[in-house]
Amino acid sequence: MLGADLPGLTGCRRCPRLAEYREGVEPKRGRTSDHYWNRPVPGFGDPEARICLVGLAPGAHGANRTGRPFTGDGAGDFMYPLLHRAGLSNQPEVTAADDGLELNDLYLTNAVKCVPPGNKPLAVEFHSCLPYLAEELKSLPHLQVVIALGGDAFRSMLRLYASQGHVTRMAEYPFGHNRLYRFRGAPTLVASYHTSRYNIQTGRLTERMFLDVLDQVRECV
Ligand code: SF4
Repeated sequence: MLGADLPGLTGCRRCPRLAEYREGVEPKRGRTSDHYWNRPVPGFGDPEARICLVGLAPGAHGANRTGRPFTGDGAGDFMYPLLHRAGLSNQPEVTAADDGLELNDLYLTNAVKCVPPGNKPLAVEFHSCLPYLAEELKSLPHLQVVIALGGDAFRSMLRLYASQGHVTRMAEYPFGHNRLYRFRGAPTLVASYHTSRYNIQTGRLTERMFLDVLDQVRECV
């Protein structure tokens, strides 16, 4: 599994607001700060992956605690069993960074590697973290499709493609669930609603809708 090997990532303090916030996250009841990762969270997954899934940022008591994307919070509890059903991992249950999970043909990461207050990174923070995302994608030689979870991750990908000359006008690529965009010389981009607890509880995103995204991606690779 790849992960934690982006030069300078785990000690990065490029965003002062996020560096201060991540180190002061108040532990949930029954836990102490010793149980928390409280650092930038690197992506992880299959180095031969053809598919990359990009979320927004670590959850305060999920990835920011466990040190692995989508691990330990509601977004991951919803998503990981479905990834397993789609054949993209070796087990449905995911609890901690050392739980034996292996991803098949899939790499998972976030657009912003540090937990943001209120789950809302600032525009400058998306911008500052973009080089790490670019490095991760570059390190996947077989990458064909990127799934962006939520509008913010989707726009981060468009900004990255714009910086690489693949996108001229971002307005030509509106966000929409299960929308797919192809680019010359860059991985296909598929948008999905985020698997956040809010989206699940309100019914904005259902299991079937997320599996439909994975089915469409499967047809692309
Ligand atoms: S969000 Fe990214 S760029 Fe900002 S401090 Fe964290 S790792 Fe560094």
